[in-house]
Amino acid sequence: QAKDAGRNTVRFFSPEMQSAIESRLALEQALRRALQEGELRLYFQPQINQYGHYIGAEALLRWHSRAMDTLIPPMQFIPLAEETGLIVGLGQWVVREACRQLKAWEARTETRKLQLAINVSASQLRQPDFVHEVKGCLLNSGANPKRLKLELTESAFLVNTDQVDEQMQQLRKLGVSFSLDDFGTGFSSLSYLKRLPFDQLKIDQAFVRDVTTDPNDAAIVAAILAMSRSLGLEIIAEGVETEAQRDFLLKNGCHGFQGYLFGRPAPIEDLARVW
Ligand code: C2E
Ligand code: MG
Ligand code: MG
Ligand code: MG
Repeated sequence: QAKDAGRNTVRFFSPEMQSAIESRLALEQALRRALQEGELRLYFQPQINQYGHYIGAEALLRWHSRAMDTLIPPMQFIPLAEETGLIVGLGQWVVREACRQLKAWEARTETRKLQLAINVSASQLRQPDFVHEVKGCLLNSGANPKRLKLELTESAFLVNTDQVDEQMQQLRKLGVSFSLDDFGTGFSSLSYLKRLPFDQLKIDQAFVRDVTTDPNDAAIVAAILAMSRSLGLEIIAEGVETEAQRDFLLKNGCHGFQGYLFGRPAPIEDLARVW
C-alpha cells in the first residue's frame, strides 16, 4: 500500500499489480505482433436450417501463437484488444478475410448461397470510418454484400445508439444484414430491437443449455421464438449440443441452429469437406 510505504517513498503499485501490468503489456505486444505476422486465423462454425441444410457459418477469431505453440481463444485476447484499441486492426483483418472467403464460396455451386456472419465489437463501430472500411472490403473482394452478416451485441450501442442506427442504415443499403448476438443476456435487448434495424436474433446459449430441463428457460426460449416470428426476424439458436435441445427448438418453430451438435468451429478446409 502506498500509504504504509513510508513518507519518502512513493509506491503506486504492489508487486502483484506491477507484474499484472507487465504481463498485460507483454500480451499486448505479442498480440500486436500476431496481427503483423499473420498469426490470426478465422475458424468457421456451420449454421443450419430446420431441414438440416447448411445456410452459412459464423467466423470466429483464433490466435495461433507460434511462440506458445497454441491456439488462443478470443475471450483471452479480445477484451485486451478492446481496451488497447488493437481491436480496430483485428476487426479490419476479420472483415477483409471474411469478404475474401465469401468471394471464394461464390466460385462453387455448393457454397454460393452461404451467408457468413462476423462479430463486430463496440470499439470497431465507434470508428468514424467503419462503414467506409466495410464498403472498401466488399468492393475490393467483389463479395456479394447480401451474404455478409454483422453480429452486434448490446454493448455496441449502449452509447450512441443514433450513430449506430445511421451506420446500420448505410450498410443495409448495400445489402449487408445484421444480427443481434447473445440475445437475452443484456439489460434492454428488447428496446434495441425496437430501435435498430436487425434482421436476425441469436438466442444466447445460456438459455439453450437447460431448455429441456428448466421450465423457465423453456418458457423464455418459446417466447423469444414466438416474438421473433411475429416481428418477422430470422432466428439462430446458439450452443445447440444435443438432439433433445434441437427437438425442443424445432417443435417451437426455430428455423436456425448453431452448435457442437452440427459442428464445432474449424478451419475452412474442414468445412469444405462436408458441404
Ligand atoms: P459469440 O459470437 O457468441 O460466439 C459463439 C461462441 O460459442 C463461440 O466461442 C463458439 O465456439 C461457442 N460455441 C458454439 N457452439 C457451442 C456449443 O454447442 N457449446 C458451447 N459450449 N459453445 C459453443 P468462441 O469462438 O470462443 O468465441 C467467444 C466470443 O468471442 C464470441 O461469442 C464473440 O463474442 C467473440 N469473438 C469471436 N470472434 C470474434 C471476432 O472476430 N471479433 C470480435 N469482436 N469478437 C469475436
Ligand atoms: Mg457471434
Ligand atoms: Mg453469441
Ligand atoms: Mg458471446
